[in-house]
Amino acid sequence: MDKNSIVIPDWEFLTHEDILQLLRSEDKNVLEPLWQQADEVRKRFVGEEVHLRGLIEVSNICTEQCAYCGIRVKNPHIKRYRMTLEEILESVRMAQRFGYGSLVLQAGESAAVMPTDWVTEVIKEIRKISDQAITLSLGERPENDWQAYRDWFSAGANRYLIRFETSNPELFQRLHPGHPGLERRLFALKKLREIGFEIGSGVMIGVPGQTWDDLANDIELFRTLELDMIGVGPFLPHPETPLGREFHENPERRIVPNNEEMTLKTVALTRLVCPKANIPATTALACIDRSMGHRNGLARGANVIMPNVTPEKYRQLYEIYPSKASTAEAAEIFDKILKEKILSIGRKIGKGRGNSMNKK
Ligand code: SF4
Repeated sequence: MDKNSIVIPDWEFLTHEDILQLLRSEDKNVLEPLWQQADEVRKRFVGEEVHLRGLIEVSNICTEQCAYCGIRVKNPHIKRYRMTLEEILESVRMAQRFGYGSLVLQAGESAAVMPTDWVTEVIKEIRKISDQAITLSLGERPENDWQAYRDWFSAGANRYLIRFETSNPELFQRLHPGHPGLERRLFALKKLREIGFEIGSGVMIGVPGQTWDDLANDIELFRTLELDMIGVGPFLPHPETPLGREFHENPERRIVPNNEEMTLKTVALTRLVCPKANIPATTALACIDRSMGHRNGLARGANVIMPNVTPEKYRQLYEIYPSKASTAEAAEIFDKILKEKILSIGRKIGKGRGNSMNKK
């Protein structure tokens, strides 16, 4: 190792400067020890099991206009849908057949299309047939409607995901036009935890305008929030969005690369600062490297994968970013290939809900 190389401090002592240097490094003498330490910390704190969460994309109807998202309200070129209760239950049964210990109900943000009572009923109906953990990813409710979250928790939901996408308030505002601001998103996470949910969040890597400091701050914010679940994925430019167009038209705005190695560094550092968190090898990561993305994520700190169990007729319509990895194969084929991959790298298929280790 030359005199300019970085020595990685023990995971407990990583500072902002350490994180920054590791994010910027392309030296394999630095990155190899990072991969190794992330893998060791993952093994020590969350073990060898890879937990599978069955993802159900309940609706692509959304009233928001997030600047990076293909299903934003201002994209007129997609057919909108909301699954029926029976379709959702069929997806739940499929996830049960595959042995997945938890479900993720995801939808665009719309209180009109996802009314509180309807969602409550869906959760109750799932609870009648399933003991799987239920994660909700339905965005934020209109201001102060904390009762909706309470109703869903009481009905049997266990976890809630809302990504903050960036810890930089100005960039947050550019990504989320019309949103009251980052503080409100972070407050929602706090309220969800108070209600009793395990909470999850995450960020994108390589958004135009995102700086190295921003990404290092994102990782530090994961630590401050003591998140139970953390998803990080590369920014994948969607041509029907303002940010997708900016990415192509203004290359000088690209500071942090949105590539696989940068994503893996972020996964590894996230594992080091949040050793007990459940961290997925995300679909976006698998999208930029279809053969190795999941495996590489699992080898560098991840312990979760979210296979898609949405009916095939809807999957292509839930296009947050182009060419999602799991839209191509039927769920049965994807499940089989995925389990073979997990076993081939010496890991185990997770049993049970895979609850957060933060509470243990
Ligand atoms: S990221 Fe979520 S809230 Fe934003 S436009 Fe897309 S679906 Fe809607």
